[in-house]
Amino acid sequence: MKNASDYISSRALGVDASGIRKVFELTKSLKDPVNLSIGQPHFDVPEPIKAAAKAAIDRGASGYTITQGIPELRQKIQASIRKRLPHPDREVMVTSGTSGGLTVALCCTVNPGDEVILFEPYFVSYPHLVHLAGGQPVIVDTYPDFRIDLNKVRAALTPRTKVIIVNSPGNPTGVLYSREELRDLALLAQDRGILLLSDEIYSAYCYDGDFCSPAEFNEDVLVFDGFSKAYGMTGWRLGYAHGPRAVIEEMTKLQQFTFVCAPSMVQHAGIVAWDFDYSPHVADYHRKRDRLYEALKSQYELTKPGGAFYMFPKAPWGTGTEFVTEAIRNNLLIIPGKTFSKRDSHFRLSFSVDDTTLDRGIDILRRLAKR
Ligand code: PMP
Repeated sequence: MKNASDYISSRALGVDASGIRKVFELTKSLKDPVNLSIGQPHFDVPEPIKAAAKAAIDRGASGYTITQGIPELRQKIQASIRKRLPHPDREVMVTSGTSGGLTVALCCTVNPGDEVILFEPYFVSYPHLVHLAGGQPVIVDTYPDFRIDLNKVRAALTPRTKVIIVNSPGNPTGVLYSREELRDLALLAQDRGILLLSDEIYSAYCYDGDFCSPAEFNEDVLVFDGFSKAYGMTGWRLGYAHGPRAVIEEMTKLQQFTFVCAPSMVQHAGIVAWDFDYSPHVADYHRKRDRLYEALKSQYELTKPGGAFYMFPKAPWGTGTEFVTEAIRNNLLIIPGKTFSKRDSHFRLSFSVDDTTLDRGIDILRRLAKR
């Protein structure tokens, strides 16, 4: 008999998720851990959004929708995007989360062997999605301040460079790039004929300045955003993408045969969510950001995050993994930087927790730094 593992493709084997799994193994024995490892908001979906989803289920809105999204939702998003980015060729599609959008986009744009530039540290999924699309991730280092150095980007370009992925505000660092950084990157991509993918899933969470999209400077930029983080809807799987019509049409074709459509009742809820004011949550996270930063800045080397709900400090001693292992022994769950990077020097904290949990986490972190 064939060993079942022989059925696995080299494409799947190329996806190595062992790092994060090891951390989860360590955490199984903990009772009531202080969990600062979560990559999602801590608040519940607002009531009017839940009510809209329930109403959609009750009236039987349970069938497939057209793959690019129900017209009421898509038109609402499109009208808002057109106001901000009045590009004649910019088209919107509803996706199965930002992840679904990124997956179909990379499969539609990357040829086997093409290179995709990622800024390190990067969101965990990016290298795996690039591999899945048959591409080769090319890593541009942004340590220690996590800003974009355009000279490093230029040095990483080759004739095979097809795509650059940028994420601001970013996971895991929380860094919000400046208008100038995004403009220069967008213009470089335009100049070299490289497609820039902008992951804007944390666009709602900006604390030190307004959100800026690189699409403001380059009409070809392909943008991904979604409802997961702004409304606490991570499990509902609703996102959207917008960019040049030809690319969106190709992505729509691929979505038809993969994700088919975003969940129908969630799309109906998305119409209500779009007009919902999430600013109180953003103000709350802004306050948590300040509280955590003030508590840690004297003992940790860390960049103040301008957005999202993460911080990425340097481990005060040992490697990132050694420090995280000790934190877990002390009942604190955090993620080693190695999960987002080839380097093992930092760790990720999430401040999307209630204040009691945040304060418990701060106490443990201040104690651990003194070792
Ligand atoms: N991009 C980044 C940078 C993220 O942090 C996440 C969620 N952790 C996603 C995309 C995926 O979001 P979604 O739930 O919309 O698929």
